[in-house]
Amino acid sequence: MSLLEIEAANVYYEDFQALYDVSLKVEEGEIFACIGANGAGKSTMLKTVSGVLVPRRGRLLFDGKPIDHMAPYRRVELGISMVPEGRRVFPSLTVHENLLVGAYRGRPGPWTADGVYDLFPLLQPLKKRQASGLSGGEQQALAIGRSLMSNPRLILMDEVSLGLAPVVIKRIYEAFKTLLDSGCTILVVEQDVQHVLTVATHVACFLEGRIALQGTPRDLTNDQITAAYFGV
Ligand code: ATP
Repeated sequence: MSLLEIEAANVYYEDFQALYDVSLKVEEGEIFACIGANGAGKSTMLKTVSGVLVPRRGRLLFDGKPIDHMAPYRRVELGISMVPEGRRVFPSLTVHENLLVGAYRGRPGPWTADGVYDLFPLLQPLKKRQASGLSGGEQQALAIGRSLMSNPRLILMDEVSLGLAPVVIKRIYEAFKTLLDSGCTILVVEQDVQHVLTVATHVACFLEGRIALQGTPRDLTNDQITAAYFGV
């Protein structure tokens, strides 16, 4: 059984249809990457998994059970946690407080604030600092750390490297291994196609609200990916 299964999801913003019959399966322990041009529907798919959006048709199964009509906080309790686009942290709270908030409604499990400081040592000296004063890379590390505090089985990451320095991106990708070791499965949306293909176990290319191509990076050629990405 897959950890997450999306079956023919059709998702709308009022009258505008953003996803058409999107189906995918995320297996436990994998890094599932979603790529595609701006506006292709990747964030919409993540928001559908986190429960911010509800498919008008189609269904979602988590661990084999339907979750379509489950409130977002209940999904967190089940082990689905989102790192939103744009490194959203609580700006007026300290780094440490941001982490503690992340544990709210979470599951028991291996992740604690100390574990997050071990994973991202750059956060350790910033514990008492207000999050608004952090750099982009520090905020992204904090946003991931906060999400881990709920001990997710599935972590959803939106545009994880957008706007970050290469050295920070490298650190974040290195952290993926620790996440997997802790029992976490990763569903990531990424603009940096070349980078994500080096770590992903499965890739889905979105094009105009549909999945144009999917498979393991090993089985897909660069030409196939380019064609699916640009729709040529
Ligand atoms: P990006 O990299 O730009 O975030 P994306 O692949 O994540 O791209 P989505 O954000 O999922 O794309 O957007 C899919 C489509 O839905 C786009 O046409 C977008 O304009 C539209 N859309 C996204 N959010 C809304 C919204 N709140 N209201 C109406 N339309 C929206």
